[in-house]
Order: sequence, then C-alpha cells, then structure tokens
Amino acid sequence: MSSAGLPILALLLAGALVAAGCTSAPQATDDRPSVVVTLLAYQWLATAIGGDSVVVTNIVPPGSSPHEFDPTPRDLVRLYEADLVLVNGVEIEAWFTQAVKDLPSSVKVLRAADSAKPLLAAGAHTISLGESDEEEGPNDPHLWLDPIRLAAVGDDLTDALASLVPVEERESLVARGQSVHRQLLDLNATIGTALGGDCARRTILTTHDSMAYLADRYDLSVVSILGISPDEEPSPARLQQIAEAATERGITTILVEPNISTATAQALAEQIHGTTQPLDPVESINPHTDLGADYLKVMTANLPSLEVALGCP
Ligand SMILES: [Zn+2]
Repeated sequence: MSSAGLPILALLLAGALVAAGCTSAPQATDDRPSVVVTLLAYQWLATAIGGDSVVVTNIVPPGSSPHEFDPTPRDLVRLYEADLVLVNGVEIEAWFTQAVKDLPSSVKVLRAADSAKPLLAAGAHTISLGESDEEEGPNDPHLWLDPIRLAAVGDDLTDALASLVPVEERESLVARGQSVHRQLLDLNATIGTALGGDCARRTILTTHDSMAYLADRYDLSVVSILGISPDEEPSPARLQQIAEAATERGITTILVEPNISTATAQALAEQIHGTTQPLDPVESINPHTDLGADYLKVMTANLPSLEVALGCP
C-alpha cells in the first residue's frame, strides 16, 4: 500500500515515460477492448467470457499476493489505457480502488462487490478465539470463493463486455457468459455434494482468514492462523489458542496456502499431532502448478484437501 498516498498523476506520468522508452508497450497495436484485473478469479472470468474479443491483463504477477501488491507506474498506465477495469471493490486492493477513482471517463469501472451483495463482514464465519479476533471490521474481500457470488459478477461482466465489443461479436460473447454462469452453478453443486454429506466436522483450520464466503455457502466455520490479510503474524498466545480450538473440535488438518510460508502451520501441525494439506484461496496464479488462471480447476483441486480436513466420506 506504500504508493496509495502518492499523487496518481505523478505516477502516471512517470509510467508514461517508462512506457515511451519501451518498444513492447502492451496492446499498442491491438485494438480489441482491454480489460485489467488484479485477481485470478476475475482474470478467468474475463477471459472465459470475453474470449478472443478482448485482451485481459492481470497486473498482479503469479505467486504474488494481491493483499501486498504495489503497482508500478507502468501498471497504472495500463489502468489508464484500459477500456474496462474489474475491481473487487472491497478492501484487498485499496490502492486499486483509489486509483480507479482518478481514471478518465473513457475507462469503464466494474466493482465485483456491487454484484455480489450481501457482502460478509470480516470474521463472519471465523470462530472467535478471544480479543485478538477481528470484529465489526470492514467487509471481507474474498467473495470470489463463493461460486454463486462469482456467477453474479460474471453476469454483470457479460453485460459490460457486450457493450464494448463490435455488434457482430456480441451474440457469441453473451453465449460464453451464459456458459460461464452454468459452469459456476455446476461447480457449486459439485462442492456442495462433496462437503454436504456425512462429514465428521464442519470447521476448517486455514492459514489466512480467506474462506468466509466458502464457509457461508457450504455451512462451515473457520479457524484461521492469520487475519484477513496474510501479513499479520500470530503471537505465541494466539497460536496456543488456535491449537486448543483445533484439539477441541477434533481438527487434525491445517490447510496451507501456496504463497505463504508454511513454517508456522508446520509447527502448529506438530503441536496438534496433525498434518497439512494445500488450499489455494484463488487470489493469484500458483506458479508451482499447471492450473494457471483456471478458477474452476483451482477450486476443484481444493476439494480433496477440504474433504480430508472435514473428514468427509
Ligand atoms: Zn486473502
């Protein structure tokens, strides 16, 4: 967030100078509508719906956390030159939310949070472990982890993209939008069936507090090692509280994220005589897998870990 308070025009100017000296300025000769995003789910959504009719750029590189990402001046130029910017609109990308306020009227801005109401308050499905828990805070940003809310974002994105592409491409774009909607409903049914059966537990133990929307959709509770943003290290007292909460609930699996150090989770796993399993919060591309920016594949790849954690048959 270090650049959030800097004058946006100064950054844009600096970025423009950088871009001017570079012969590979993005989409310089491509006149298709350009869409800029910062999250994997929206990259997938825009690519799946837009197809070859649009050019989608995710300015957060693979392996980076959108929570901690700082845009370069050139990233800001990409925003400035975009036709459509899809912003989450809640918390996770405060700099992005601020930057889009300064964009020219030629840039259409779509806020996912406007499509995905009602939003959840931070800590909505997090089991309280004492005074260190977040309460009454801002809304939780991780709305893309609920396929139904993401489908609502996709519907509005379809409308927005349809208004940008040539008339002759609209029908197939809308058809892709409808297909994406159906795929997300199918994903919802698959997850609901997998996690809705006779599982031993309804509580998961995660690295950062990213799973409230998943928990909301599939009737789960969450204990998390870190807060809503993964840059908050837990105190020894907090870790002890987590270990006790896990033991009380029969939890023996800690769900660890690809882009966060697993040292704390490993230590906790030893303490509760448990193990770790991977769980991707679908924020950015994991460069250590071949799943790329395919939201459906990443969500589906999460299912075995969730089934193990919950003790599902
Ligand atoms: Zn997160």
